Amino acid sequence: MLQCTAVTLLPPDALLRLIAPGVDDPGDPEPYVLCELGEHNGQHTEHAAFLRPGRTPDSPAQWFFWTGGGPERVHRTDRAPWCPALLRRLGTDVVRRCAFFDHHPASHSWDVEDPLGDLIAERLVPDDSPEGGPCP
Ligand SMILES: [Zn+2]
Ligand SMILES: [Zn+2]
Repeated sequence: MLQCTAVTLLPPDALLRLIAPGVDDPGDPEPYVLCELGEHNGQHTEHAAFLRPGRTPDSPAQWFFWTGGGPERVHRTDRAPWCPALLRRLGTDVVRRCAFFDHHPASHSWDVEDPLGDLIAERLVPDDSPEGGPCP
């Protein structure tokens, strides 16, 4: 399944939260975010972009959810627990976690093809994950 193509501009309040004092290195907050889910109906189902992780890899991460676009856009910033789904590779002990939030629409992250989004995938995979990003 292909990745949803929705893109939106982060509102100032969500951006501020990303760069709030006391936050661990937020990197370079990008005002534009992409929906990271597999293709879904954006009229009725919220798009979602990962903002930043929780305090531990297991704690709920912060996501930006929105529906519609332009002046019609409705959005919220919220913490969401991770999707509990795991993908176990046959023949190896590698277990991959779904990189989306619990009860997300469409496919789990490993079934979403993202032609442009290696950068985003890197951000989603926790450092201590068995699949921790591309080899140097
Ligand atoms: Zn979407
Ligand atoms: Zn999932």
